[in-house]
Amino acid sequence: QAKEGGRRTFKYYSNTLNDRALERLQLEEYMRAALQNDEFELYYQPQVDLKTNEITKAEALLRWTHPELGFVSPADFIPIAEESGIIIELGDWILQEACFQAREWHEAGLDIRVSVNVSSVQFKQTNLVDNVKNALELSELPKHLLELELTESAVMSDVEDNIGRLQMFKDMGIRIAVDDFGTGYSSLSYLKKFPIDTLKIDRSFIMDIDTNENDAAIVKAIMLLADTMQLNVVAEGVETLEQLRIIDNYGAQYIQGYFFSRPLPPAEFTKFVTEEFAEKSTWKLDLIG
Ligand code: C2E
Ligand code: MG
Ligand code: MG
Ligand code: MG
Repeated sequence: QAKEGGRRTFKYYSNTLNDRALERLQLEEYMRAALQNDEFELYYQPQVDLKTNEITKAEALLRWTHPELGFVSPADFIPIAEESGIIIELGDWILQEACFQAREWHEAGLDIRVSVNVSSVQFKQTNLVDNVKNALELSELPKHLLELELTESAVMSDVEDNIGRLQMFKDMGIRIAVDDFGTGYSSLSYLKKFPIDTLKIDRSFIMDIDTNENDAAIVKAIMLLADTMQLNVVAEGVETLEQLRIIDNYGAQYIQGYFFSRPLPPAEFTKFVTEEFAEKSTWKLDLIG
């Protein structure tokens, strides 16, 4: 429906519960419209492989620019999309969009494994396997170029059910990464039962790794664990050379963070990988050594 005249301002954090409920409803309505109006986009953040000095992976991150509200952070709207159920339709769009993009890169001779965030709400849904199959078929993306990223807390609840679910993806040839690792309450004895490929160390442990001994110890312990279980590790949120040096020293192979690049729109990502990184990486990586 048409919006009369004047600009509506949107305050997400308001005082009364009632206001907040209204804002939630408003945001839900905006999200439904956003799906129709193509307001969502995926950006891609490179993961640099320190062993080979290449970029072969990227995380797909959702971006939303609303015509009136402007940029809305996924940290603000994803939880509402989850509570309202919109995440199901939105998540499906994300999967397809990411698969088509990865296929486009593949066609252009650039093999980038794209890691797609899957909400716990989506993960619990029984259709997810079919939706993933569908996205792969429609896009004709080779399966090994898709990774699903699930948070530690989503994976570690309903252990038996989730092992079965993850196994289905594994059997299809799709990779699984555990996101925000270290922030949940993993039972380490369960961890080895899960058919997963990668642990993503949460940014909160990387942030102060050069000054906080506890964080450094946790990261070291995660690295050791991953090594024992033969899992890959991605260190998330690496912003500085100092952090990179420490992480590299601990043996982390994949680095994702502003130090190398922010999440980028597809065309900029292509340019970054094929031109800028190649030029920049030599001096940047030399610094670690
Ligand atoms: P996440 O999956 O843990 O994604 C990593 C977040 O860290 C992203 O924030 C990324 O931009 C940010 N980041 C990466 N490197 C750095 C760094 O060096 N410094 C700092 N300060 N931040 C860094 P973003 O894009 O705002 O996403 C926030 C969260 O929203 C994500 O956390 C994820 O939980 C959710 N999200 C984003 N896109 C999607 C999506 O497509 N589907 C679902 N279900 N959730 C998504
Ligand atoms: Mg993620
Ligand atoms: Mg994360
Ligand atoms: Mg996170």
